Amino acid sequence: MNLTAENHRVPLSDGNSIPLLGLGTYADPQKTPKGSCLESVKIAIDTGYRHIDGAFVYYNEHEVGQAIREKIAEGRIKREDIFYCGKLWNTCHPPELVRPTLEKTLKILQLDYVDLYIIELPMAFKPGDAIYPKDENGKIIYHETDLCATWEVECHPYFTQPKLLEFCRQHDIVIVGYSPLGTSRDETWVNVSSPPLLKDPVLNAIGKKYNKTAAQIALRFSIQRGVVVIPKSFNPQRIKENFQIFDFSLTEKEMKEIEALNKNVRYVELLMWRDHPEYPFSDEY
Ligand code: NDP
Repeated sequence: MNLTAENHRVPLSDGNSIPLLGLGTYADPQKTPKGSCLESVKIAIDTGYRHIDGAFVYYNEHEVGQAIREKIAEGRIKREDIFYCGKLWNTCHPPELVRPTLEKTLKILQLDYVDLYIIELPMAFKPGDAIYPKDENGKIIYHETDLCATWEVECHPYFTQPKLLEFCRQHDIVIVGYSPLGTSRDETWVNVSSPPLLKDPVLNAIGKKYNKTAAQIALRFSIQRGVVVIPKSFNPQRIKENFQIFDFSLTEKEMKEIEALNKNVRYVELLMWRDHPEYPFSDEY
């Protein structure tokens, strides 16, 4: 596969294609200044990113839409150049809610369509206005759902998912790996007992050889395996850094060395919902 900054799309079975590198946009809304997402998406588009990963529940989807629309108005891109992935939240799983929820997202984005719309998590919560519906004891109210798992998968050098990847390869399914840099290590939802990915000595040593950072090596590793990555950054320098992964390639030996780092440990475990009947991480994939 010849991956370049201008063209790093992989084909999908329906005739569309998805860029292997996208910008993740989740940031804690309490700690992130308004407008950071808007600026970051604009910088990303100027840098060459053509895939943006967002969600209604990130509370910044209006900024993503605004950034895309501003860049279209400037003549920098056309709508069809961008691949936008939106997500159906847990309270909207009943089939009759899917379409109106997507329409709400389109209204927030002020765009005519999204390129991909996925089930954010396979664990339904009680439908209604509350995003996190709770009972009188403060416990999330779950909801029964008949769910065909359409799902993105955490994937990075510490969680390489060899079995799942092989299954998907055989069935022509493209994987999108979230948290490709090992997350923001926010203790409220991340398992921080697993060591920080970007401090890994092997990633750093290989990085030294190519004059690249551990983050760039981790991202290059994934796209060389055909796994789409959506690193989140709202820092202009790091948004650009994460895009500089098309001017070198890892040798087969280095790919194997990185594969051997696998610890089979998830950063995103969502243990607070482990008693949900559809909790997905007890099964081996
Ligand atoms: P990532 O693995 O992308 O890591 C993001 C963290 O790494 C941020 O703290 C960011 O900080 C920092 N960072 C970014 N670039 C660099 C770099 N070059 N060097 C050092 N640090 C860096 O974690 P996420 O969990 O955010 O995953 C990425 C995206 O995946 C999310 O934003 C979201 O869009 C999606 N996602 C989807 C899920 C789902 O649908 N189920 C679940 C989890 C994530 P800074 O911004 O300051 O650069």
